Amino acid sequence: MALKIAIVGRPNVGKSTLFNRLVGKRLALVDDRPGVTRDRRYADGNIGDMDLTLIDTAGYEDVSDDTLESRMREQTEAAIEDADVILFTMDARDGVTQLDRIFADRIRGVHKPIILLANKSESRESMGGVGEAYSLGFGEPVPISAEHGEGMADLYQALVRAS
Ligand code: GDP
Ligand code: MG
Repeated sequence: MALKIAIVGRPNVGKSTLFNRLVGKRLALVDDRPGVTRDRRYADGNIGDMDLTLIDTAGYEDVSDDTLESRMREQTEAAIEDADVILFTMDARDGVTQLDRIFADRIRGVHKPIILLANKSESRESMGGVGEAYSLGFGEPVPISAEHGEGMADLYQALVRAS
């Protein structure tokens, strides 16, 4: 049976890029505009010999009660509810932002395995961000580059440990 994975985190950290990489097709919309994935998307994929069902989410802002934002928030909560494992994704180039912390506080109480991904780790500039990521309190971050396909073996190992 496929492991169900929710890819969550604030907008623009590379969730849809990772989703696309693991699905292997251009299913999710990748866009520089934050929050462009309005609804959660499901697709089958794999990493190595492990079958996955992937859930891409919009990445909510913590602020207004605006309909779109509350809808995005609901979609993320629903994805977390549905998943076996949560991939909490941050941008290692940006380091830990206030929105990452708000997000971390929201998922902290979830009684499911949470793997912290430090994405955009393909360059040396991101080393500081990977270090900062420890402070989110989800243990050792897994540095990856969704765009360049780096760190996938470590992600695989983390999923094996979590499942
Ligand atoms: P989402 O909003 O979290 O779904 O983020 P997207 O997947 O839409 O990516 C946001 C931006 O980050 C896009 O311009 C991607 O090309 C870029 N991006 C995603 N992954 C990486 C990565 O590993 N390295 C770099 N440098 N850029 C990335
Ligand atoms: Mg997206």
